[in-house]
Amino acid sequence: MLHGDRACGHFQSFAPNARIPWLCPVELATAQYCSQTRWAVRGALPEGMRRKYSSHSSKKSVSCPGDGTKDTWAPDGAPPLSVRSRNQTTIAMSYYSFIQWCHCTVNPCMGCDGCELFPCITRLIRTINEWLVSHEVSNPYVRKVIELEVESRTPSATYHSRVAIAKCVLAAALPGMPVSPRQVRDLACAIAAEFRCYAAILHLRYAKNSTKPHKVGKKGFAPTFEEVTLFRGRAAAAANWSDLKNVNDPEKPWLDGARRLIFLSDMGDLLSRAVTIEYILEEVIGSVSSSEGQRHFWLWLTKRPARMAQFSRWLHAQGIAWPDNLVAMTSVTSGDTVGRVAALKKVKCRYRGLSIEPLWSAVKLPLDQIDWAIVGGESGPWAKPFELDWARDIRTQCAASGTAFFLKQIGTKPTAGGIPIRLQDRHGGDWAEWPADLRVRDLPQAFRR
Ligand code: SF4
Repeated sequence: MLHGDRACGHFQSFAPNARIPWLCPVELATAQYCSQTRWAVRGALPEGMRRKYSSHSSKKSVSCPGDGTKDTWAPDGAPPLSVRSRNQTTIAMSYYSFIQWCHCTVNPCMGCDGCELFPCITRLIRTINEWLVSHEVSNPYVRKVIELEVESRTPSATYHSRVAIAKCVLAAALPGMPVSPRQVRDLACAIAAEFRCYAAILHLRYAKNSTKPHKVGKKGFAPTFEEVTLFRGRAAAAANWSDLKNVNDPEKPWLDGARRLIFLSDMGDLLSRAVTIEYILEEVIGSVSSSEGQRHFWLWLTKRPARMAQFSRWLHAQGIAWPDNLVAMTSVTSGDTVGRVAALKKVKCRYRGLSIEPLWSAVKLPLDQIDWAIVGGESGPWAKPFELDWARDIRTQCAASGTAFFLKQIGTKPTAGGIPIRLQDRHGGDWAEWPADLRVRDLPQAFRR
């Protein structure tokens, strides 16, 4: 009998006064756990599926050995994630995602060429130089040392070696003088603060680490974030997921009535250089336009909309139509990246969306032909402040252009008129803590048809 199967005889209900932090009282009443395997199963699961958690985890979710996302459902009959074959990574995807604007995620590739949220070597060198200048310890000799230290590494390796690099650079910057641990820590933090992409951070945590050669990278991840790796079959498996039309999710009531929204490629960028057009055609377009895939909406987010437009032209030239259920999306983080919207409009598709997250400044957006705008403040240890009026301004712009507005989160450091707001939720994702006028999470009507 498979572990986790309710029929194995080891399943029992939780005690009436049990407190399981990741189950709400209603779920707790119907949840069971297996006394042998210590896997817990929520009650009232969608048809044919069950959700698995480790009952001895105190966290809200368990990590998935597949794609690094945190919460996973598995088809009936599938063994628990912990006992699946290591080669079965193609089925390891996030059937349930905590991202507010989608139901689930799938990653036909892992890793990325980088963007403003993941630094290149040149930017890392500049960051270190700026830190030294601001602390008045720069000299011409130390600049050569920085280049030697950083240029010989990849950005991921620089992140892992940031303390060693900081020690070496400070020793060169302060010859004959003692270097304090605080100086080393501050410079190492300045390097770490350049790494803001959560997909990159998960790779830095779980993939290979150049400073720990004995550590094996997690299956389902790219070896390092820079080494974009393809995972065939994941999108096809996601296409088979059940239809969510008319299925309500109490945790995301704003998605009620929508078809299943699948975030395509949240752990990398499918339009990175290593991913060929043929691969995208086969893995993505094939799955999205299959009869199963057409039951869902696929949200394809990229920081490379110009390449997406190029791909759409190529598709057009082959006589293949862009599937109507494939939403072309790009990201804007500040005025410097607003140009991506114009590139997105060149994609020959039916629906377009913007992820304006993390938003670092007020932006004016050309929102004609844009169906959806998702706005969010930055979260995490290096988060920049998020002014609530920026979100109000975008909401007004959306109202003028008929674009659906969705406020995902107000981030770790929200401010109102420049005054910091204290929140319980460290991501600012609980809309009960927001001003009433900002509690807006709209979807394009087409997603509900
Ligand atoms: S995955 Fe997206 S956010 Fe992260 S580095 Fe790549 S393009 Fe940037």
